[in-house]
Amino acid sequence: MNYVWGTGTHVGRVRKVNEDSLSPLSSGSSSGPVVLMVADGMGGAVGGEVASRVAAEAASAEEASAPMTSEARVYLANTAVIDAARDDSSLAGMGTTLTLVRLDDAGTMHLAHVGDSRAYLLRENELRQLTSDHTLVNELIELGRITTEEAELHPHRHLITRVLGLGPIGVDTETIELRHGDRLLLCSDGLTTMVSDFAIQHLLAAGEGVEATVWALIEHANTAGGVDNTTVVVVDVTE
Ligand code: MN
Repeated sequence: MNYVWGTGTHVGRVRKVNEDSLSPLSSGSSSGPVVLMVADGMGGAVGGEVASRVAAEAASAEEASAPMTSEARVYLANTAVIDAARDDSSLAGMGTTLTLVRLDDAGTMHLAHVGDSRAYLLRENELRQLTSDHTLVNELIELGRITTEEAELHPHRHLITRVLGLGPIGVDTETIELRHGDRLLLCSDGLTTMVSDFAIQHLLAAGEGVEATVWALIEHANTAGGVDNTTVVVVDVTE
């Protein structure tokens, strides 16, 4: 397989600081293995920025070719954020999401995920969300207690139930065999709270290159209000 990716992050139109992190920082291509991720930090004056950066650095410290699972990378990142907070009391309570994929040379994707950032797969123009949000409202939706519409108005809709940096975590994992023509999206909630899945599908399927698509998505989030930082990784799977 060959992978071509574009990445971008933007502070948005409301916040002063970008607390999202990503890896790799620049666009590129590889026949695999390659490890790509987005992290969305939270907490304290500078904690959010630090938490997401520490997590992304720890999760990408080992080469993509190293015999390390995606899940192990997330556990490593969790420990790194906990350690960083322990070393500096001004960082106490910081946390971060982490959504990470390892794409190997045979076309297998190993996904590991904690928090409310997301991974999506566009296959034959159909968009499928690969991750579940670790949020209170999503848990209530999955229990059938509230509807998606009610979730959008819920007073605690931003409450995250699982983050890195606060203690032991459960990591969601999934393995998917990729196909030629697949397009992957990793993104922070700055995109998905501003832009509907319908619009995301439309932009991903528009046929633009990865880099142009990344910035089209970010521009849509900002045009819709840009209330949060937006981070986007788009990967094309080619033969
Ligand atoms: Mn966010």
